[in-house]
Amino acid sequence: MAEHIHDCIVVGAGPAGSAAALQLARDGLDVVILERGNRPGEKNVMSGVLFTDKLRTLIPDFHERAPLQRAIIGYEGYILGEDELLRLPALRRYREDVHPPHLFTVFRSQFDAWFAQEAVDAGAELFTATLVEDLLWQNGRVAGVRTARGDLRARVVIGADGVNSTVAEKSGLRAPPSPDEVSLIVREILDLPAEQIEDRFTLRPGEGVITLFTGTVSGPTGYQGSFYTEMYTNRDSVSMTTEVPIDVLLACGVPAYDVLAARERHPHIARLIRGATLREYQAHLIPWGGVPDLGCLYGDGVLLAGDAGKFTNTYGVGSWPSMSSGTAAARAVKYACEKGDFSRDALAVYLELLDEEEMVEMQREAREEWADERRQREIVAQRPEHLFRIARRYYRDRVSEEKHPYSLWGEAYHSLVKPVAPWYIRWPLELIAWIDTLRWRRQRDSASTVRQAANEEGR
Ligand SMILES: Cc1cc2nc3c(=O)[nH]c(=O)nc-3n(C[C@H](O)[C@H](O)[C@H](O)COP(=O)(O)OP(=O)(O)OC[C@H]3O[C@@H](n4cnc5c(N)ncnc54)[C@H](O)[C@@H]3O)c2cc1C
Repeated sequence: MAEHIHDCIVVGAGPAGSAAALQLARDGLDVVILERGNRPGEKNVMSGVLFTDKLRTLIPDFHERAPLQRAIIGYEGYILGEDELLRLPALRRYREDVHPPHLFTVFRSQFDAWFAQEAVDAGAELFTATLVEDLLWQNGRVAGVRTARGDLRARVVIGADGVNSTVAEKSGLRAPPSPDEVSLIVREILDLPAEQIEDRFTLRPGEGVITLFTGTVSGPTGYQGSFYTEMYTNRDSVSMTTEVPIDVLLACGVPAYDVLAARERHPHIARLIRGATLREYQAHLIPWGGVPDLGCLYGDGVLLAGDAGKFTNTYGVGSWPSMSSGTAAARAVKYACEKGDFSRDALAVYLELLDEEEMVEMQREAREEWADERRQREIVAQRPEHLFRIARRYYRDRVSEEKHPYSLWGEAYHSLVKPVAPWYIRWPLELIAWIDTLRWRRQRDSASTVRQAANEEGR
């Protein structure tokens, strides 16, 4: 292995690494992928929905060849109480003219193996069961990698080795993410016959849906934080994940698998997965909040792509940003090879190429969303009880209207909007809530006068 100098070593055969290797091989460069798993995908976890935005530009006929499960036709959202559930407005699209569909559920163990093979078929070399342990340096720049099987040299190394990236750490490009920038996701794959999935989720064969539940988790410390549980329909199984930010888990003192087990017992979820059998149990970290500093994505002889660089979109989706950043990294390597310059200055072209992939703006938005998300998490953690009270009042609790200080809209404003909204949103809404409450009080008082008069007449 030792003496040959490759144009590029890609560390990791996930979506970022395989996209990079595919692009490099198509551009005629000498590229090697190193993957620690016995086969690509073996170590990889995703809730299960593949965003095909970039994939369709790389492999336009992917939908005819890739191992896909179901095409997603809608999202459904719920807020979970202990034994209650609040359904949020949801949209399902049954149109069949979006072809190929935009989102698919996949198993990463199958998809990653297929995608890496596309890169190999294009001319990349793949070494599996090869753990990269360190980087090789020459004259202050990265010049290759050290693996348990030997050293390997290259003009540029692309770190596409996921959230706990060895390349990021050893190159000194980025520090490990802080606890509020990563969540722990635990995931179960539950076998359920296709007909039962279609029946329970109102689907036709081949159609899938994502169901998102949010609620609060509290533990022995008394701290309350929010969690998300998601359900994804596969062909003949359902994937169920629970995600809790690491800082929330630490503050609550509850292990994530307990949170998942508690969600499974919720009456609504229990009905959806009744009779299902556990096939697999997984856990993985997911990064949040986009790339904090774009300058940390490239150095002398080294680039970071995908989760290794912390690429996500505003919803924490990583499959498509990782493929886009992988492709941009490959194009940066091609540029450097043509120039014969592998310095940080030359590789800075990566930023322009990321911009062409619309990744720079996406990272800025993801960063902003992450700051907002922290506030939303607090709102979810503090206010589900208000939401349930409003919902109960809206649906059936009309008889006890006297007990409430505000109209329904007044209560929604005071418990949900007022504590969090900035003044320019608060003031007009406060006026509307006040007028609505006055109108409601007048109606309530006149109704009670009529009731009193009727009672007296009756006596
Ligand atoms: C539980 C979970 C659910 C998710 N759900 C979704 C979803 O529904 N939709 C979505 O779009 N995104 C989702 N994501 C995010 C998405 O999975 C990631 O953003 C995406 O996989 C990142 O791709 P990547 O190639 O950068 O890294 P990875 O997919 O992590 O791939 C990294 C690869 O590098 C290999 N590797 C690591 N270290 C080394 C080493 N030292 N030497 C050699 N090889 C190494 C690994 O084995 C792996 O194959 C989810 C993430 C998690 C954890």
